[in-house]
Amino acid sequence: MTTSAESSAGIFDELTAALGEKGVLTGDAIAERYCTDWTGDYSRRPLAVLRPADTEGVATAVRLCARAGLAIIPQGGHTGLVGGGTADGPDQVVLSLDRMNRIRAVDPIGMSMTVEAGCILESVKAAAEEQDCFFPLSLGAQGSCQIGGNISTNAGGLNVLRYGMMRDLLLGIEVVLHDGSVFSDLRALRKNNTGPDLKQIFVGSEGTLGIVTAATLKLFARPRWIETLWLSTDSIEAMMEVYGRFRREGGEFLSAFELIPQNCVDLALELSPETPSPDPGRHPIHGLVEISASGGPDPGPWLEEMVAALFDSGLVKNGILAQNAAQAQSLWRIRELMVEAQQKRGLHLRTDVSVPVNAIAPFVREVTAVLDNVLPGLTVLAYGHIGDGNVHVNALRPAGMDAAAFKPLIAGLTQDVNAVIDRFGGSISAEHGIGVAKRAALAARLPEEQRLLLAGLKRLFDPQGLLAPGRIW
Ligand SMILES: Cc1cc2nc3c(=O)[nH]c(=O)nc-3n(C[C@H](O)[C@H](O)[C@H](O)COP(=O)(O)OP(=O)(O)OC[C@H]3O[C@@H](n4cnc5c(N)ncnc54)[C@H](O)[C@@H]3O)c2cc1C
Repeated sequence: MTTSAESSAGIFDELTAALGEKGVLTGDAIAERYCTDWTGDYSRRPLAVLRPADTEGVATAVRLCARAGLAIIPQGGHTGLVGGGTADGPDQVVLSLDRMNRIRAVDPIGMSMTVEAGCILESVKAAAEEQDCFFPLSLGAQGSCQIGGNISTNAGGLNVLRYGMMRDLLLGIEVVLHDGSVFSDLRALRKNNTGPDLKQIFVGSEGTLGIVTAATLKLFARPRWIETLWLSTDSIEAMMEVYGRFRREGGEFLSAFELIPQNCVDLALELSPETPSPDPGRHPIHGLVEISASGGPDPGPWLEEMVAALFDSGLVKNGILAQNAAQAQSLWRIRELMVEAQQKRGLHLRTDVSVPVNAIAPFVREVTAVLDNVLPGLTVLAYGHIGDGNVHVNALRPAGMDAAAFKPLIAGLTQDVNAVIDRFGGSISAEHGIGVAKRAALAARLPEEQRLLLAGLKRLFDPQGLLAPGRIW
């Protein structure tokens, strides 16, 4: 077995013979996009980028890399936010799924579709819609992230409260294992109680147990009525009351409920001043709500009554019911812009945590107070998916503090957030995964029994330790 960059040169000739010229990039042929993730925080040139065109190609690549002792970092759309999809050490190759982007089948009667792992989420949603069906996973990065990445991170997003996370949307999977063998179970079975469900082991495992090459996904009826509302309240407690009313009385109509504080709206409008402000009164807390229905009566009349009751109760101070698709889109655009605007501000604190839904309000108050106290002048942005108890507690640098001065403070600030999370019985990673960024924080919290089980799983699925080393475990 060889282990260094120099002695692995011969392996790339073999890989090129197997995968073709387009299938192996080395040296200057490696484009920057394979080296850096969306955040720009994680960047390194791998020894090579492998781009197999099919499952057999992935299997061959894994076999040859295993023989040469090269570690493989699977890479999707590199929109993951925890440093999982880029190389971070010597003797690592990136295995990109970007050429494996075929929709294999859409079944509008069994309500399922089978796609290759490199399909971009947006194109999967479009292919479902062509057959009058709906694939509900929905997130800001959907124009770039891939289904394989979504499975490997158990992606969540905007519609989890109605349809669940990626884990809940998966019927079947195809995975290349550490020795190049293929675990294939792409059956669209709704019921299959034949022991433990192995496909679920790969969900959220961030490439550490195998490389996902294809998946069979659940489809749903396409929403026929979609109503989008912007509601403004005086406090986060009031917004939680409003959420509870929608949850209890709106039932299955409720498909998204986003928590957006006014300072996030300010950021969005700073980036795009031509976007109309949804609440000129600048109430402190807003909710972006989506109600949708696939069949049966239009929920419009119920919604109007509901909103009127919320105004009468005094909980809601201002509201907009989008009158058309363009207005709905401009409300959702604010949600996207506020994320882009943070990115534009450069280095900032970024977290993805969850607490029980009924603890969101006290959690946000406490974590904001802690951060304000530790570093006065921070702009704390606490927004997220209310129905999932998922809050992104981010913070912009104090005015005048440059990135170099802020960088060493990030680890401590993250620990401060995590300490509050622990007090509320929450999770340090709600939907982005562990990657390299949260590895130490996870290790510090894993109960011993769980650590032993996970270590055993890793040894079983990756005895050489060459699949995405340094992630999660
Ligand atoms: C603007 C923005 C908004 C976002 N919003 C959300 C959100 O609402 N909800 C949410 O959950 N996430 C969100 N994310 C995070 C990110 O989009 C998701 O984690 C997404 O699932 C990552 O997919 P990807 O294809 O980009 O994976 P990558 O970033 O390329 O990889 C992520 C991890 O999966 C592994 N991996 C990738 N492909 C495979 C494969 N085929 N087989 C095995 N392992 C693989 C990688 O090694 C890495 O560890 C957002 C990101 C951005 C930039």
